[in-house]
Amino acid sequence: MGESRSHVLSPVPPLWGGPGSLKKIGSIVEGLVDRSKPVFMIADPGLPAGFADEARGLLTASGYDVAVFDDFSPDPTFGAAHQAASIAQQLDAAAIVGIGGGSALDLAKAVAVAARHALSLEDFALGAAALPTTAPPLVAIPTTAGTGSEATRTAVLADASGAKLWLWGDCLKPRAIILDPALTIGLPPFLTAATGMDALVHAIEAATNRNATSVNSVLALAAIRLVAEHLPIVVEQPDNVASREAMQMAAAYAGAAIDNAGTAIAHAIGHALGSRAKLHHGHAVSCAMSATLPWNVQGDGGRFGEVAKAMGGSGDGAELPGLFDALFRRVGLSHVLNLAGEIDAKDLVAQIRRPENKAMLASNWRAPTEVELLAFARKVLGES
Ligand code: NAD
Repeated sequence: MGESRSHVLSPVPPLWGGPGSLKKIGSIVEGLVDRSKPVFMIADPGLPAGFADEARGLLTASGYDVAVFDDFSPDPTFGAAHQAASIAQQLDAAAIVGIGGGSALDLAKAVAVAARHALSLEDFALGAAALPTTAPPLVAIPTTAGTGSEATRTAVLADASGAKLWLWGDCLKPRAIILDPALTIGLPPFLTAATGMDALVHAIEAATNRNATSVNSVLALAAIRLVAEHLPIVVEQPDNVASREAMQMAAAYAGAAIDNAGTAIAHAIGHALGSRAKLHHGHAVSCAMSATLPWNVQGDGGRFGEVAKAMGGSGDGAELPGLFDALFRRVGLSHVLNLAGEIDAKDLVAQIRRPENKAMLASNWRAPTEVELLAFARKVLGES
């Protein structure tokens, strides 16, 4: 995995972390835009009471007019993005603030670019056309610790059929990140575990896929060490501020790592599952990683060794499936997805093969045969 080819390291956006960092939102926005136009806030409707109000109040106290949009569901749609973008356009919003889980952040990213250019976002899905290069500056305030959307140039939106499609462009990258651990303290155990495992899967895939570079893997391996140490702690002691903070850093590092190297087979399967059934993204990708890791580490030529070491092993990639599954179970996740009647293994393979999942599958260092892919689909769905 030496760099015998050209590569670029896109940086983590400026990041304000630690307890109380939300209080800096006024001065952070001040560094980006003046007060002559309003700030448009995309606020996760499922947040504990008071979070969005606090962010809004801090901005108002700094002299900004603030409008809030919260009419959307997890795994947001193109429709929700267009609805919010038309409001942002009417307001002539100077900046966008996204506060919430990855769903809210992805929506905020899409809204920023659609508001500036009045475009139809579907036309840019899967890189069909290049997104414009400019958008109002976006401040990302994640309230889950997993997706790393705060550090990526990607937004995932669902089309009318539920298929999860991606948008990609420099203009989607947030201009500032706020990681305040107080915002994740109340995250329930399942969401804590599933989002934390999402960060781990990001980091493992970025460190081991065909695009991995040693410099980018510094970020990915740091994220893996943080998750291995702190995810069990935040599940067992939800109000451990230091570990909540460590998980926020893990998610942001892992996000930066996939921003540079992309993901791989577990995300191709996870996105396919999420397009066909209602299940949490982090749960889907971590079940997919469990199903594929034993095959992926075979004959890896040392590719997974550093990852195993970062998870507490001795440095042999063959240890990784066991280490991964032990963490998965320790944080209370189950491989039983209960999707019988919603999707079968053949449907899932067809969904994995769709264009939106092609790049993720192609990034995996091993290319699965049709028989292997069907076996993974059966395993994920509990059919074998
Ligand atoms: P989410 O944003 O869908 O939120 C899940 C649930 O958690 C929601 O009901 C939400 O209201 C709730 N929630 C959020 N913060 C909370 C808090 N502090 N306390 C209590 N409840 C809270 O979940 P997610 O895992 O953060 O994001 C998943 C989405 O992100 C998926 O759509 C996925 O495709 C996308 N994603 C994007 C990227 C990217 O780079 N853009 C990367 C990975 C995943």
